[in-house]
Amino acid sequence: MIYDYECSYCGNKQYGVEQSVKDKPIKKCSKCNKLTLERVILSPPMVKCTNITTVGQLAEKNAKKIGKYALSERSEKNKNKIEKNIYGNLDKKQTRKLANMSKKQKEKYVMTGEGL
Ligand SMILES: [Zn+2]
Repeated sequence: MIYDYECSYCGNKQYGVEQSVKDKPIKKCSKCNKLTLERVILSPPMVKCTNITTVGQLAEKNAKKIGKYALSERSEKNKNKIEKNIYGNLDKKQTRKLANMSKKQKEKYVMTGEGL
């Protein structure tokens, strides 16, 4: 599994940290050495990520909110489809921008589609 971390104290970002699902989340920030590192929910779209449940749920919520996609049933297929719709149209620049976003900015983007 690839995880992204962000320090809530100094804002240091550590993306693409490879860990086993069994591993405990890293707490110590490599920059300020405080135990304020937090796992970020969203991974950059180009990173292979199998843990899409949370993102999928957020995306589904967002999709309902903006009323763009009609959902007939809750299924993995639908989640993947929404995920593709949200990430599918990004160019390299936007993808990089998304990867450099803070946790809050990413959440806002997924929830509202705004911020890019
Ligand atoms: Zn830090």
